[in-house]
Amino acid sequence: MAQETTPKKAKVRELVITCQVCRKPVTGTTGHLWMSDAAVSRVQQNRAEAPALMSFRDLEMIQPANWQAHHKACSPDPDADGYGIEAGRIETVAELLEWTAHMMEKRCTWLCATDWPQVLRGIDTPGSRLSRVQPAG
Ligand SMILES: [Zn+2]
Repeated sequence: MAQETTPKKAKVRELVITCQVCRKPVTGTTGHLWMSDAAVSRVQQNRAEAPALMSFRDLEMIQPANWQAHHKACSPDPDADGYGIEAGRIETVAELLEWTAHMMEKRCTWLCATDWPQVLRGIDTPGSRLSRVQPAG
């Protein structure tokens, strides 16, 4: 029986990262969505030190650490320690879901100190850190 060879389907880019400095798309290995370790530590420390009687609502008021979107060349803090997702590895909705699941499994407490929910909610806002590729025309 003849072996069928299915050519590997090329990935169609569905999502685009927009650099927060130059406002241009970040693609492939030119940059990433990233989170500063120091920013997450600050949020976690503020939450840990919050008065015991602080309500859950007040605790929520401690702003989460913001994910940043930058070309490597544009990054305002290129030497910062942190966690990054290279642009070429988060180009489809399936990849976005996989990254979300991965971070929930591996670094759940850490993820909850970040504004990842806002990153997710922004995908239908063109020009946000991570958004759907807009149809041409
Ligand atoms: Zn840039």
